[in-house]
Amino acid sequence: MRVYISVDMEGIAGISHGKPTNRDDSGYRDACRLMEGETNAAIEGAYDGGADEVVVNDSHGSMYNLAPDRVDQRARLVQGRKTLSMVEAAADGHFDVALFVGYHARAGHPRGTIAHTYSGAPTLTTLNGKPVGEYGINGIYLGALGIPVGMVSGDDALAEEVADWMPWAERVVVKRGLGWQAADSLHPSAAQALVKAGAKRAVERARSADAGGLRPLVLAAPIAVELQLTHGGQADFAALIPGFTRVGDRGARFEAQGGIEAYRAFVSAVRMARLADE
Ligand SMILES: [Zn+2]
Repeated sequence: MRVYISVDMEGIAGISHGKPTNRDDSGYRDACRLMEGETNAAIEGAYDGGADEVVVNDSHGSMYNLAPDRVDQRARLVQGRKTLSMVEAAADGHFDVALFVGYHARAGHPRGTIAHTYSGAPTLTTLNGKPVGEYGINGIYLGALGIPVGMVSGDDALAEEVADWMPWAERVVVKRGLGWQAADSLHPSAAQALVKAGAKRAVERARSADAGGLRPLVLAAPIAVELQLTHGGQADFAALIPGFTRVGDRGARFEAQGGIEAYRAFVSAVRMARLADE
């Protein structure tokens, strides 16, 4: 049983404001400690549930947040400026199940804490017209590889979105979103206990008959990937990518033939959009 864990920071218990999630902030190291706590809880839960192998992908910001010597020694750690970002190395391992820890609601969510989608550039992203966040963008990539998402942890706004997109996934709520940079959070220890239990249940389900009802997230092709960006200049740059079209005041659109292509189109557009502001 091989388990892939992608860990973000904004959805970790005790993180209520965006500032400490930035490397330059004086609170950043403390935020990393909280992230490491939930990461280790997920690893422990995965092994308790029957995992034989766990790979952790550090999936926040510049993606080298977790101190390697503070991460449970049973797990391997993927870090750095990865081409495939939050799903790097998922294609390498024939993973049976994926766990998303510290995730958050989509950009544009009215209440989710530090709600965004990959960067500050997209204000709304849709797949086949339906608003989606990182859980779904990453979910369709993994889904195309046959890997179901078994657990997602973060705030209650995220849980509502995940219930809609991937109703089979265990939903662990570690805080209540009170707005853009505010949350009502459990104590980190209490949150870690929930993450551990959720990870254990997800892996136990993945091991059981019919994968315990866990399903890879697969959308029928073609998949329309549309990003509304912060301004038209960002959309112009994103629409420069072959296959994209420019839509509306500040949108760019692509029709993908599957989940992997949809993921690559989205990440490419986000990266191109950033260049418009340099
Ligand atoms: Zn994120």
